Parts: sequence; C-alpha cells; structure tokens
Amino acid sequence: MRAAGKRLMPPTNPWAAAGICFCLVRHLLLRYTSNAMRKPEILAPAGSMETLRTACLYGADAVYLGVRGGTNLREGAKNFSLDELPLAVSFAHACGVRVYLTLNTYPHDDQFPEIEDLIRSAAKVGVDAVIVSDVGVLSLVRKLAPGVAVHLSTQANTVNTAAVNAWADLGVSRIILARELSCEEIARIRDGTKIELEIFIHGSVCISVSGRCLISDYLCGRDPNRGQCAQPCRWDYALMERTRDGRYMPVTQEEGFTFLFNSRDLCLLPVFDRVMGLGLDGLKIEGRNKAPLYVATAVSVYCQARDAYLGDPGAFSVRPGWSEEIGRISNRGYFTGFFTGKPGPEGINGDFAGYVQTHHLAAKVLEVNGGITLMEARNPLIEGMELEWLSSSGARQTFCLQGASSDGKPVSRIRPNQVFSIETPFRALAGELVRKRYSEGDKIVAERE
Ligand code: SF4
Repeated sequence: MRAAGKRLMPPTNPWAAAGICFCLVRHLLLRYTSNAMRKPEILAPAGSMETLRTACLYGADAVYLGVRGGTNLREGAKNFSLDELPLAVSFAHACGVRVYLTLNTYPHDDQFPEIEDLIRSAAKVGVDAVIVSDVGVLSLVRKLAPGVAVHLSTQANTVNTAAVNAWADLGVSRIILARELSCEEIARIRDGTKIELEIFIHGSVCISVSGRCLISDYLCGRDPNRGQCAQPCRWDYALMERTRDGRYMPVTQEEGFTFLFNSRDLCLLPVFDRVMGLGLDGLKIEGRNKAPLYVATAVSVYCQARDAYLGDPGAFSVRPGWSEEIGRISNRGYFTGFFTGKPGPEGINGDFAGYVQTHHLAAKVLEVNGGITLMEARNPLIEGMELEWLSSSGARQTFCLQGASSDGKPVSRIRPNQVFSIETPFRALAGELVRKRYSEGDKIVAERE
C-alpha cells in the first residue's frame, strides 16, 4: 500500500520550486544536448598499483584492472592480488576515479569457483563495474552481485545494434564495442540504443577479430582467450622447405612486407573530433602491460583533447604537441584501425624494427621540500643529462641534471632505484614523472652499470 505522504506534491516553498525547475531544466538540457557534448570517460589500463596511482594522478576518469589468475585477459601483467584489491579501489575512489574489474576471459567450468569468489569480493570492496565476455559470467554477476554494474568486454565482439540491445536486455549497462567497426557504424549503433557505449581509442590491435585467434595457442600453447597470448602475430616469418633444414627463404609480399601479421597500433587522435561527435560514454586506452610513463602520457593527451573539444567543439583541432607526445611512447607505428574504414596494407607494419619509443622514464618524484625535489631514479642517470618533467596538469619542462645528492653526498652517476635530491626550477607533485630522451650514451652507461 502506498503511503499518502510519499506522493510527489507540488512544493509550496518558492525556493524549493525554483530548485526543482533548475533540476528539470538541467535534466532537459542534458537529455537533449547533442551527442557531441557528452563528456566521455577516459579509461586507463592499470596493470599494477603503481600504474593505477599514475593514471589517477594524470587525470583518468576510470581505471580497469585484473586480479592475478586466469580470469582476465592480461595474465602477463603484474595485476592485483585479492588482498590488494580493497586498497586499489579505495585509492582510486579517494581520487574520484572509478574502478572496473576485468573478468573477461572465457572460463571453463573448473574456473567458476574462483570467478564466484572474485564477484563477491568485487561487490564487497565497491568496484564500480565488472567487465565480462561470457554470458555465464554475466548471469553469475547478476545473481551474486546485483548491485554491481556489468560492462561487456570488446572480446564479445559486439558489432551491431541488435546485439547491443540484446545484451542490454540481459542486464549489461555498457558495451565496449568491437574494434572492427567504422565511425559510421558506431554512429548507427549510438542512434539505435540508449545503453552506454565505449570504444578503444588507443593501443595494440589483434590481426584477428580480437582474441579469436589460434596462432598463440598453436605455436606456444598459450591461449589468448585466457590472457596468455605470446603475440606470435608480431614475429618475423620466413619459409623453409622440408628437406632443406635450416635454410630460410624470406617471405615478402609487395613492397617488401615480411611481418605479415604485425598490426600497427590504434591511435584515434587524428580523428578525435569524429570520436567526440559520436556521443560515447567511454574512451579506452589499451595496455595493462604498459609502464606508468606510457599511461601518464596517453591519459594526459586524451584528457586534454577531450576537454579542448568540449570547451569549443567548433574550434577544435589536434594540437601538434599532442601528436608529438603520443609519438614519444612505445608504439609499432600508428593507424586509425577500422574507424576510418577497413584497413588495407597500411594497417600492417611490414618494416617492423622493434617498438618506436623516443623517451623513457628517468625518475619518479617522491616528495618536494621547498625547492628541493626528492626522486627515485628508474634508469641510469649521469650529471649533465637533459631531463623533462611531466606535470600532471599537462605542462612539460626540461631541466639539466646538476647538483644532485644522495645520502647527503653529491652524486654525478645515479643508479636505477637510487633515491636522490635535486633543486628544480619547478614545483612537482609526488608521483609525477620525469623522462629523458634515448641516446647512445644510455646504452654505454647501461652496459657499464
Ligand atoms: S597472436 Fe596476435 S592476433 Fe592472435 S590473439 Fe595474440 S595479439 Fe591477437
């Protein structure tokens, strides 16, 4: 029976009436504002506690992470233990960052006891959503943790509106669409559903439809759908005739391709205005095996690009500085994936000579006392090197490593993990990163070390 007092009555207080009007106007504005003005989350990979902290500091709206074991698709990442999960969630939440737990393998029956434990733990520690691929895992989450939102992993390969809405009917609140979709196809799906949508905007890409690949299992006994991929699609293949053991004949396609299956990495920065125009809810950066410098740089660039677009969509253009930054982090050459149409040969990096990465992590800021910055070195450093501070606000500043001291004594050579202090011409925050350009000197010093 409904109590009479619970009915919504028109307010007699004029301030209350004004408040309701304001909420209504705001609601209508949000409801009918064009897709282009939605503020999508920038989602960062958190393969370790250190990366999670870095992602939070550099502006991510949400992080996604996995617990060690066979339940997430990055078994090679450091990942988190069940005991570390509460700390990870509370740290992120204290920074206003949401946490999504990946349970996105295709588990067999014997893995379900572990999955059940994880779902219960996720609900207990307050993760904001779990990411699943398998419909069995989905139904288990709905049963064991009905209050926890469920996102559908890109591994489920959702490529049409009917599938999106069918998953919504099953209780999924967000779909991470398949990478194999063009901008126009995503726009059609957006128009045909009210459910939250997310896409990958940056990072590694499978040559097969995400994870539907047997090469790693066949050649290495490592199953991609259990997070163990050895990435043999990146290998340099040659041909050998059965009776001529050890005599390799190079395999080359047109224009000298030898890395037949080596996909370039996805980067949607060049078409970011089109991405933002789609009215999506989440823009995801791939890479739970990546280091903090990679995550800090990518998160910082995409947050700046998103905020610049939202500030003035008509005047938006990709700033050269953003492209330069994205070019500085580890990559196999970039392309825009399926977003701009089905990729041709330009999607394969046939001349792959290893990852391109112009900079690496020099040090991490531990604390700041007056003008003195305490740092921990992450690579060998020598006096006179030019370093660059990456402010979490997006600013960059170069400085020369001069006058450093460690344990109260001056040092001209600093080893990885050594803590040192230095007077800096800027005011850093704890956790911020300092990078340096690769140079021949690095190799020499590294060998000496
Ligand atoms: S081998 Fe390559 S294409 Fe296959 S799952 Fe691994 S990364 Fe993807």
